[in-house]
Order: sequence, then C-alpha cells, then structure tokens
Amino acid sequence: MPVPRQDPKAALMHSLYLQGHSLAEVGRAFGVSRQTVFKMLSQRGLKLRSKSPPIMVVEFAGTRYTRRANGYFASTSNPRTYLHRDIYEKAHGPIPDGLEVHHKNEDKTDNRLGNLELMRSSDHGKLHSLVLGRGVSTRFKKKMG
Ligand SMILES: [Zn+2]
Repeated sequence: MPVPRQDPKAALMHSLYLQGHSLAEVGRAFGVSRQTVFKMLSQRGLKLRSKSPPIMVVEFAGTRYTRRANGYFASTSNPRTYLHRDIYEKAHGPIPDGLEVHHKNEDKTDNRLGNLELMRSSDHGKLHSLVLGRGVSTRFKKKMG
C-alpha cells in the first residue's frame, strides 16, 4: 500500500476504507467528517473507490460467495456461510465453539489460508473494537469473522 508520508492514522483510515467501510463510517470511527477523511486520503495519493464498485464474487469448493456490506464474503445459497470460515474449516476441520476466524492483515478480501487464524471470540471482539473504534464496531460486531 503506497503511503508517501509516514502517517499511521491515514494508513489505518485507508485500510478500513478498503475493507468496505464508507468514508463517512471511517470518519465516524475517527471523530472527523467524511470530507476530512477524503482529503487525508486523496492528499496522500491513496486510492479511492470509484462511484460504482464492481460486485465481487468469489467461488470456493463449488459455492458462490458475494461480498457483503460488512466487507466479508458470504455464500449466496443456504446455509449462508462465510468464505473465510469455510476455507479455514476445509483445511483444519470444524471451528470449535468460542473461536472465530480472524484475517491477520485485516483485509477481509484476502482469504488465503495463511491470512486466517483462530482467535477466542472475546479477544477477536476486543481487537476489532480497538481497530475500528466504537462507532463502526458495534454495527459490525455481530457479523465479524
Ligand atoms: Zn477479525
């Protein structure tokens, strides 16, 4: 990810944005306006989504997964399952109760096995609320993966 100037805040904003959060949501998490986020990212040459992002579809083991509003890929057929969980379970077997699959690099579209790790649900929730801030995390907490 190109970050011309050393700015962890802008980099974090950008990574949230790339995960599918809108500029307004990212702004809310940081307590700034949508315009401020836009300015911070564009001044640093960070790429912004085009107005109509392409629908992202992934296929895994004969199942279709589409990208949801929360940034995660979920299957289009019943039972609805999350791609990252299915990939993990295919390799390692069922995910034990109380554990969740986390994307190590925080990129929900990067579902390579090496990017997935098990975490206790409680730790996972904590990690995401630290990264996302309260405004965003409460909305996405339930569907976190
Ligand atoms: Zn996670």
